[in-house]
Parts: sequence; C-alpha cells; structure tokens
Amino acid sequence: MPHAVIIGSGIIGLSHAITAKERGWQVTLLERDGRALGASVRNFGTLWPIGCAFGPEREQALFGLRRWKELAARAGFWIRPQGSLSLAYREEAWAVLNEFASGSGEFALLDRAETLQRFPAANPDGLRGALFSAAETVVHPPSANAALVSYARELGIEMHFGTPVIRVHDDAVETSDGQRFAFDRLVIAAGDDMRLLFPQELAAAQIYRCRLQMMRTVPQPTGFDLGAILVSDLTLCHYPAFRDCPSTPKLRSRLEVELPQHKEWGVHVIAAQHHDGTLTLGDSHEYAADFAPDSHAEVDELILDALRGFVCLPDLRIAQRWHGIYLKSKIGQTQVVLHPRENVTMVTAMGGLGMTLSWGLAEKTISDWQP
Ligand SMILES: Cc1cc2nc3c(=O)[nH]c(=O)nc-3n(C[C@H](O)[C@H](O)[C@H](O)COP(=O)(O)OP(=O)(O)OC[C@H]3O[C@@H](n4cnc5c(N)ncnc54)[C@H](O)[C@@H]3O)c2cc1C
Repeated sequence: MPHAVIIGSGIIGLSHAITAKERGWQVTLLERDGRALGASVRNFGTLWPIGCAFGPEREQALFGLRRWKELAARAGFWIRPQGSLSLAYREEAWAVLNEFASGSGEFALLDRAETLQRFPAANPDGLRGALFSAAETVVHPPSANAALVSYARELGIEMHFGTPVIRVHDDAVETSDGQRFAFDRLVIAAGDDMRLLFPQELAAAQIYRCRLQMMRTVPQPTGFDLGAILVSDLTLCHYPAFRDCPSTPKLRSRLEVELPQHKEWGVHVIAAQHHDGTLTLGDSHEYAADFAPDSHAEVDELILDALRGFVCLPDLRIAQRWHGIYLKSKIGQTQVVLHPRENVTMVTAMGGLGMTLSWGLAEKTISDWQP
C-alpha cells in the first residue's frame, strides 16, 4: 500500500491525512507538539463561503462545508449551520450589500425592520439593513480538532505527537528523536513555521506572517442566541468576495477616514457564538517577520468598540484573550501550494480561510497523486 506522511495536526494536516486514508493510502501523521496548538485551534471556527471569491474558490468552500458536516456526524463534534448576517450602517455598506446580492438567489437582503425582528441582538442605531446568507456554519475549533484526531486514529492513521520533523530526505523524514518515516508522498502542513523545512522555497513564495488578536466572552445568559455569525461594514472590505462590488472602494475610503486606527491595525470584527454560549470575537492584522510576546490592549479596545457598533450583548465581559498567527500571500492568493520536490506537497498561506478551504484543497492534493 502506498504510504503518505503528513506533517502537522492542524486542519490542513488532518484534512489531508483523513482524505488520503479514505482513498486507500497508509497514512502517518507527525505533530511537533503534544496536541495541535496553532491557528487551527485559535480561530473563530467560522466556515465562511461568503468570504470566498465567486467561482472555483466558492465551490471549494461549499465542498468543504459538506465535508465538515459529514465529518461532524462521523467524528461526533458540534457544528451549527446558522448562517451569517452582514449588517450595514453606512450608506456605502448598504450599497455594497445590494450590489453583492444582485444576480444571486443565494442571499436575502433584509430591511432594517426585518433585520431587527429576526435578529434582536443587532444594534439598531444607524442600521440600514443587512444581508443574510444561509451557508455559513460554526464549529468549535479546539473540540473539532480533538474529535478529528480521535477519528483519524479510529480510521487507522498512525499519529505521533511530540514528534518534530527536522529534515526531509528523498523518501523519508527524520524526526528530532532520530526516527525515520519513509514516504511515497509527503504533505507539509506546518502552519506559520517558515524556518525549518524548505525555508528558501517559502521565502521565494512571497508570503508574510500575520498576527491576529482574539477574545472570548463569558457565556451569555441562557436563552440568548446571536442567531447568525454577525459582521458589519468593516468586514465588507476584508474578504475577496466583496472586492468587485463597485461601492467597495467608496466604503473603504470612508472607513479609512472615519476609523484610521482600525485601518492601522487591520481591525474588522466577527462575532460567532458557540455551543457553550460564549462568543468568539476578533480580529486585527499585524504583519511582521517576528512579533513581540505581548498583545496590545488598545487593539482589543478597537475590536470591542467596533463590535458595540453592531451588536448589543447582554454580557460583554471577556473571559479569554489570545493571538493566532498565519501566513498570508503578498499577492492575494488564498492558498499557496508548493512542490519543492516531485513527491512533496507543501500547503501554506491559507490566510483567514484555512478552515473553510481545507477539505477541498485536501481533495485536490490527494486526487492528483498516482498511488
Ligand atoms: C485568529 C485566526 C482566526 C481565523 N479564523 C478563521 C475562520 O474563522 N475561518 C477560516 O476558514 N479560517 C480561519 N483562520 C485561518 C485558519 O485558522 C488557518 O488557515 C488554518 O488553521 C491553518 O491550518 P494549518 O493546519 O496550516 O496550520 P496550524 O493549525 O498552525 O497547524 C500546523 C501544525 O504543524 C505543526 N508543526 C509545525 N512544524 C512542525 C514540524 N517541523 N514537525 C511536526 N509538526 C510541525 C504545528 O505544531 C501545528 O500543530 C483563522 C486564523 C487565525 C490565526
């Protein structure tokens, strides 16, 4: 049986490992830490087709959604297809939503009254209307990751935690304890780690590191339901899907004037509620090769300030704060796949859509392999 070795137990590593196993490969997964601690357990858990460009990328995201739902049923983790609500406060944002919705039956434009009636947590002050999209879905990243690891074991995937790969030979990898694992195909899904394996290839791929600040509220009172994943004006300038709307540049210009600090720190805000009643909130975008260990209190305040503009929460006490790091393409690619050697696939720079696009990418990688 052909043998695939996968490096990394984040969502990219797990989706490739599980897909390869389903296709009849013998699979070994090697993870540096005792459990996944990277971007895959630090994100919102939003599966976000609405952020993807129309065409193949959106198809990949919708394929990923189907796989997430299938896997949630098999591996037994929480998933909630609750949809997303993009709230418009500025007239330019309302114009963007109208342009975005025109020509597609997949989205519902709601006027102000309808929005507030269906989503009472939306802030009514200055609200013009909203766009509801049913596809978006939430998982709880740490528990989904843990359940996928158990499921991978059940499938017969050999998992080695606490096992950093330090070198790639022609047909085997070497780990820090001196073991060698032979492969016919190797997938490197090492997250934001750019320095150890194939650093020159990564450096040539025009990617940079991005740090994002995140928060989680205390559980909201029983009965409170956000009703959807909520975003607003700032987010419409963030994702590729809205790039082609004629009013997006006008909205961006206005936001840059009105919210210069949000622009400086790359703040746009997503609020996603999880099964335990908590809300995950974020984020900011800071670009550098290395980051100081401390996070910025003023950036958290910018996030909370923007949040208050579109959500009225019963309890905005913050229980946890953390940051995540991902690699992002400097030239706007939403996924960067490198082949430093013929039998080696390096998946990197999934930016802020890695949870959404992972399963579709894994499907493509494994289909391209000749066993
Ligand atoms: C704050 C934040 C919010 C986000 N929100 C969303 C969202 O809501 N929706 C969405 O679709 N995407 C989101 N993303 C993006 C998404 O989380 C990432 O694209 C995705 O998790 C990347 O997965 P990964 O497996 O490549 O990396 P990681 O999860 O970082 O996993 C890489 C793994 O490789 C291991 N590793 C590294 N080097 C070695 C080595 N030499 N040997 C062995 N193991 C090694 C690491 O220990 C780690 O466990 C967000 C990202 C962040 C940071």
